[in-house]
Amino acid sequence: MSTVSTEAAAVGLPGARGVLPADGALEKTPLETYVPPAQPSLIGLSRAQISEQFAAIGVASAQRRMRVQQLWHWMYVRGARTFGEMTSVSKDMRAELEKRVTVDRPEVVAEQISNDGTRKWLLRLPSGNNLEKPHEVECVYIPETDRGTLCVSSQVGCTLNCSFCHTGTQRLVRNLTAGEIVGQIMVARDRLNDWPSPPGEEKTHRLVTNIVMMGMGEPLYNFDAVRDALLIVADNEGIGISKRRITLSTSGVVPNIVRTGEEIGVMLAISLHAVRDELRNELVPLNRKYPIAELMQACRDYPAASNARRITFEYVMLKGVNDSLEDAKLLVKLLKGIHAKINLIPFNPWPGTRYECSDWDQIEKFSEYIFNAGYSSPVRTPRGRDILAACGQLKSETEKLSARERQALRAMAMTD
Ligand code: SAH
Ligand code: SF4
Repeated sequence: MSTVSTEAAAVGLPGARGVLPADGALEKTPLETYVPPAQPSLIGLSRAQISEQFAAIGVASAQRRMRVQQLWHWMYVRGARTFGEMTSVSKDMRAELEKRVTVDRPEVVAEQISNDGTRKWLLRLPSGNNLEKPHEVECVYIPETDRGTLCVSSQVGCTLNCSFCHTGTQRLVRNLTAGEIVGQIMVARDRLNDWPSPPGEEKTHRLVTNIVMMGMGEPLYNFDAVRDALLIVADNEGIGISKRRITLSTSGVVPNIVRTGEEIGVMLAISLHAVRDELRNELVPLNRKYPIAELMQACRDYPAASNARRITFEYVMLKGVNDSLEDAKLLVKLLKGIHAKINLIPFNPWPGTRYECSDWDQIEKFSEYIFNAGYSSPVRTPRGRDILAACGQLKSETEKLSARERQALRAMAMTD
């Protein structure tokens, strides 16, 4: 019975708390807010917040800055998983810290390795009061010859409801905290053995070199946590991944694109997917709030966009929907004056979708047109399809079940 009421809350059935958008609404409200554990993790906290922990255990204010630096180094340069490893911190201080806080990362509940080397981790996150079962998000590591990219999630579910995206059909459970976002990078580096070894000796090459905020969720609807997390990831005295190697993908939350430029300064990717408002309203309903012209203006204004720092426009190839040569022409027109590259993504199908992937020769024709117009237009090779790790497939296997449950519940609600 409790499962039924929980699921009812999640799908907006009678008695639910408005979790799925009402007809025509663009945004879902989160089902929960994060409830911190009694002993929180220091991962994802700012230096000022860590300093408060030192204050609480009686460290004199003149010493705190140096202590924070020590901890920061142990956590983010060496990847220490316990206070016990932090040998440059006095034993007493470690014992005091241990009573109050941890350096825990999200718990890994499953690891899958694709036959193309892609790895996917299923992470368990604590749930708050509303749901009994813990939440899960996925993060994916994609090795390539010259880089290793980690695809990171920002929400459990998504605020938005793009019609071709499986995550969009799911409920928004909650926003991730900065710690849970940085935690995904920590977990990946733990599992890949990507910390300096022996301790203190930096490896000649790192495995996780690039970060893309392209997992589950709309990062710009969880702005503060995403900003705090990415600033930690880019911090030179810690993980130190350059902002040029971090890409934030958004479906077009215009006011927060401006803030991304001002407050984060990472590379930008825009999930465009259509060049006419009428079609984009259908594929990316947020377009009704921030139409194409406004979105393009935000891109033109994005600070530091240049030939070396081009904005990526993602374009999912949907058969007979957005893949004509007329669309390609309009796309080129639309991007005039913007330092842009275009990333064509073959549509990854999921159970129950009404869309199909464009035929390969159509994708090639589309790509060729754009290339001849002077834009780089690589077609994104789907990676990790065998472990459901490709774009838009995250958590689909787990969610298939709840989709069936949802259908059953809807049917029940109708016969009530
Ligand atoms: N919410 C953000 C980031 C996550 S999605 C955004 O929308 O930009 C990462 C990319 O995968 C987006 O461009 C998204 O539109 C695309 N995508 C979603 N579902 C897909 C599917 N089924 N097949 C291919 N790409 C998909
Ligand atoms: Fe959310 Fe992005 Fe999927 Fe749209 S494409 S529903 S914004 S995850």
